[in-house]
Amino acid sequence: MIEIKHVSKWYGATQVLDDCSTRIAHGEVVVVCGPSGSGKSTLIKTVNGLEPFQKGEIIVDGISVGARDTDLPKLRARIGMVFQSFELFPHLSVTQNLVLAQVKVLGRSQGEAAARAASLLDRVGLRAHQDKFPGQLSGGQQQRVAIARALAMDPIAMLFDEPTSALDPEMVNEVLDVMVDLASEGMTMMVVTHEMGFARKVADRVIFMDVGRIVEDCTNEEFFGNLEARSERAQLFLSKIL
Ligand code: ADP
Ligand code: MG
Repeated sequence: MIEIKHVSKWYGATQVLDDCSTRIAHGEVVVVCGPSGSGKSTLIKTVNGLEPFQKGEIIVDGISVGARDTDLPKLRARIGMVFQSFELFPHLSVTQNLVLAQVKVLGRSQGEAAARAASLLDRVGLRAHQDKFPGQLSGGQQQRVAIARALAMDPIAMLFDEPTSALDPEMVNEVLDVMVDLASEGMTMMVVTHEMGFARKVADRVIFMDVGRIVEDCTNEEFFGNLEARSERAQLFLSKIL
């Protein structure tokens, strides 16, 4: 589904991604962790073309992200992305947040889009809040709306960049629960997170990044079942967060 091949990226003279390669199969959940500044956000954003890269290739569902003739807006519409800051439209109601792109980008009718929105809001437990504005919701609720909004586009894969990092601790689980459900339904997911409990529970693979490199890329069992075999950098990082 997602193939990252020898991707390198520089900001000016500074290299931020260094020969990164991995593949994410259909229905697979991959957690990306690593110290701040290691390139996690940059890597995940290259997947839907939000960050250009100078070397290598990324193929998503058979389409080359970096190719000059690729219709990036069209590709992006098919890949859901959820950020640390929820990035909802503050002046639109919850329902309108979910309806807008369905109508504008997918060409659905208002009625069809509203029905899809209602069913997704049910699924994330927020139907009762459908007419509120984002500012009237808690952080955890806003993030669940953001996930529902991404799902409304019927994405082929979902990218999450530290979706719970900006939340108060008591709200982390309500968002992780939605993500656990999504994973169990077979969604292809790439998740940057330091929530190792979540990783252990749902990740098929764990990637550890350091200074722009993919240092570890192993199965859940390899990663958590044999921590002593991990690189020194990974062990040091994990000792600080576990
Ligand atoms: P992470 O998500 O792992 O914390 P990032 O992908 O955000 O790391 O950043 C990787 C590196 O790229 C960092 O050293 C960061 O300072 C640098 N970087 C990120 N965005 C920019 C930018 N727009 N211009 C220059 N350097 C950047
Ligand atoms: Mg980041």
